[in-house]
Amino acid sequence: MGLKDGRLFREQCYVGGAWSDADSGAKIDVVNPATGQAIGTVPKLGAGETRRAIEAAKDALPGWRKKTAKERAAVLRKWFDLIMENQEDLARLMTAEQGKPLAESRGEIAYAASFIEWFGEEGKRVYGDTIPSHRGDARIVVIKEPVGVTAAITPWNFPSAMITRKAGPALAAGCTMVVKPATQTPYSALALAELAERAGVPKGVLSIITGPASEIGGELTANPVVRKLTFTGSTDVGKKLMAQCSDTLKKLTMELGGNAPFIVFDDADLDSAVEGAIQCKFRNMGQTCVCANRIYVQSGVYDAFVEKFSAAVAKLRVGDALKNEVDQGPLIDQSGYDKVREHIDDALSKGGSIVQGGKPHELGGLFYQPTVIRDVTQEMKVAKEETFGPLAPVFRFETEEEVLAKANDTEFGLASYYFTRDIGRIWRMSEGLEYGIVGINTGLISSEVAPFGGMKESGFGREGSKYGIEDYVEVKYLLMAGI
Ligand code: ADP
Repeated sequence: MGLKDGRLFREQCYVGGAWSDADSGAKIDVVNPATGQAIGTVPKLGAGETRRAIEAAKDALPGWRKKTAKERAAVLRKWFDLIMENQEDLARLMTAEQGKPLAESRGEIAYAASFIEWFGEEGKRVYGDTIPSHRGDARIVVIKEPVGVTAAITPWNFPSAMITRKAGPALAAGCTMVVKPATQTPYSALALAELAERAGVPKGVLSIITGPASEIGGELTANPVVRKLTFTGSTDVGKKLMAQCSDTLKKLTMELGGNAPFIVFDDADLDSAVEGAIQCKFRNMGQTCVCANRIYVQSGVYDAFVEKFSAAVAKLRVGDALKNEVDQGPLIDQSGYDKVREHIDDALSKGGSIVQGGKPHELGGLFYQPTVIRDVTQEMKVAKEETFGPLAPVFRFETEEEVLAKANDTEFGLASYYFTRDIGRIWRMSEGLEYGIVGINTGLISSEVAPFGGMKESGFGREGSKYGIEDYVEVKYLLMAGI
């Protein structure tokens, strides 16, 4: 990988401020998806070690929550600085385990760090309230307190940012946290722990544990010490975790799957719609929950859009991002790859036609050609399921009412996008779309200053922005009588 600081590559877990292995000594291989070669191993922890991480978080809680917000912010600021100082190494580590282009990895590191900086500052603004009392002899005050011990389960598509988006507000609010990163991408998480330790995050405030999801997840969801679970991943797993948390009634944040519509109206600036569609569809090889999954184009510009868009897709460079400058890396694993093939085959069997790509890439392995299919309809799998890969299906529509109904015809409600210059339509569409995020004349919506989150079966809770910290505080009402 060629890291400047080799100590950022950690093959042990970080539990209660100590680097440790599994009690059993068992390990899991971590593979570079671009080459299929093992990069190294991580410990295969189970329920016992998870319990110890939770106990460490419990022990660390009183000291951490007692610090002032400013003191916590100083530690978080140091963590932010260290992440940015090591941006290049962290990016290389991420590309090695995840496959995304280096430029995207660098961007993710900056994005990941931004949550630590933002929430460190935001922690200083967790204001309470005074409320005009209902009694002459009493006064009402509302204070906000940290939720307590929290747990996070995170996915492989954003190995760093999905952690800092949770740990940032948790730590800033005075909570402690146990994180289980995705098994495919543990090294980005462990490097963050190494830097947190250097920044002075106290023992037990943040632990990172690796191992089988069901065993670790079982303990994180059943243990009564854990007061909140925050999860980013698939809707199916989110539902399971929510059910598991019901016995102990944990607070929950759920960032689940999407099925984003990307709508281009006749009056759109076509070049900017094409540019937006490329960024929105092909970022991270199409493996983000806010990637355009369904591209709807109004019939007046349908052919022109397909032509320009396909020409831009044809220019995307595919390959091993550690060796060459590329725009597209491999898919994360075989099941991700198989789903892309399945969606393409299904669309072709139901009348879609390939305009660009459509085949496994000549590089072999987990590389797939960036693909555009036209004449796509609502009956195809791509209309219902998240492809999570480099397949852009282009649907045709006639009217605004029709496309709004089609866009909302899904159980998901995370991100949506549309391109138009008509001010009336902008309001009608923005209010009509049943989505937590609406991108208007842009394909990129993520920022630490804005609330990210979904409606319907895309989940609940918000990450980033002033709203993001609210998920990590409890509201306590004090009634002071006898005045
Ligand atoms: P993805 O499609 O992004 O891999 P998943 O929902 O399968 O989405 O995985 C997201 C995270 O949830 C990963 O860290 C994974 O290990 C974890 N996970 C998967 N299944 C379970 C489970 N049954 N219990 C707890 N965590 C799980």
